[in-house]
Amino acid sequence: LPVLRCLIVVRLKRFSSRRRWALRGAFALLAIALAATFGVPQQRGCGGGSTCAPLVEAPSDPTGSATPPTVIYLNRYGGTVRGGDDDAAHDSSSVVAGRDRERVDIPGAPLDDATWAEVVACVRAQFARFNVQIVDARPSEPGYVMVLFGGTGDELGLPADVRGKAPLDSDGCRTVRNAVVFVFSDKLGAAAQPHCEVAAHELAHVFSVDHELLAADTASYLPFGGAKWFQDVDALCGEQQERPCICGRASQNAVQILLQKLGPSAIVDTPPPTVSVSAARERTGYVFATVQATDPMGISNVTLTYEDGRAFVSSTCGDGQLPCLATGSTYTFTVASATGMARYTATAINEVGAVAVTAAQELVVDGAPPDPSPITLAVDTRASSGGVTAHATASSTAGAIASTTLYWTDARGITTSRPLCSSGTNEWSLLVQRSSDPGERSFVVGATDTAGHTAFSRRTRVAIE
Ligand SMILES: [Zn+2]
Repeated sequence: LPVLRCLIVVRLKRFSSRRRWALRGAFALLAIALAATFGVPQQRGCGGGSTCAPLVEAPSDPTGSATPPTVIYLNRYGGTVRGGDDDAAHDSSSVVAGRDRERVDIPGAPLDDATWAEVVACVRAQFARFNVQIVDARPSEPGYVMVLFGGTGDELGLPADVRGKAPLDSDGCRTVRNAVVFVFSDKLGAAAQPHCEVAAHELAHVFSVDHELLAADTASYLPFGGAKWFQDVDALCGEQQERPCICGRASQNAVQILLQKLGPSAIVDTPPPTVSVSAARERTGYVFATVQATDPMGISNVTLTYEDGRAFVSSTCGDGQLPCLATGSTYTFTVASATGMARYTATAINEVGAVAVTAAQELVVDGAPPDPSPITLAVDTRASSGGVTAHATASSTAGAIASTTLYWTDARGITTSRPLCSSGTNEWSLLVQRSSDPGERSFVVGATDTAGHTAFSRRTRVAIE
């Protein structure tokens, strides 16, 4: 199963280093300097004949779960693990069996007490919004997941660039119950962060999280300048290149999968982060938007949503849609080819999922007027059972329409993008299942033709009946 192996392996060379990040930033800036337009929707099909899944809004306040938490045991002591079905309480591992071994001996993790405490706190933070109990002493009752920190992977005959290994059900996307997860701490250095990120990444596989092409996500291989967190964003799957997500999922949202598998944390009523945004036109056609975001619990992601006379984009820092530099609590986004009157908001989410959105700001950009577009695009909404259907009609005099993308802004002010699905000649639509949150929704549709032109609709408000 080469695909499966690929999915559950984390490679050293693909993790962030400041040098790679700097290179990537330079390429991104070069790319936008050359690009005539920005915010081109990513080319995502609707899965060629597969069902077109609706966009489901996330509730702003998931109620605490009454079910017992999933217990995760972080084991720094090492030990002997036998090959077999996963059964952490009896040190039995499908990963060991998959490597054709009867048993492996994993040494204890080479971490001092203070660093270990940091690792435990960091893994807890990664899973703070989910219904888990993370402990570092072996539970007395069976029925837990174990993360074994130690060794190099050589014990399992794994290559030197593999940093961790976990079981993943890539066919059914079921949780691997009582799984044993490996973090090869002997080659992760003295700092806590890599041990934590590898542990969180591998743990996510147990709950059917795939690799995704959102650099800021813990489940991504792509380099990222800041700490990685699970992101509440629909992302493409893949390691370096897009490939279909496992189990036929149209896209992956790591937070939503983990909420579905683990349930929400019982912690609610957390104050939202503090967030502010300002923007300036640095030179013709370029806008630099600076977001300040802080939270005592830590910020998990920052998103800039921007629209002007030409374009629309909603970019979470690290997703590559807009160049973004994260320095401490400051996130700077660069928008190229800006024109007319810009309108923008920033969204910040803390580690437990509390959201803050700024009021909309405006800026006169006064760049070059937009070129006349060969694309004709009209949108409307249609009532449908279980929600609202966004509908678009699009055509281009320069070629066929290659893709259409819905940018849906929910009652929290969070924008999610998703490809629309073909519903007839030159027609696309997508069902949105609304959460019970009161408040206004709106959306923008982007259409790209086969010649590479992109057009965006005006923002459409959705009436609440
Ligand atoms: Zn992985």
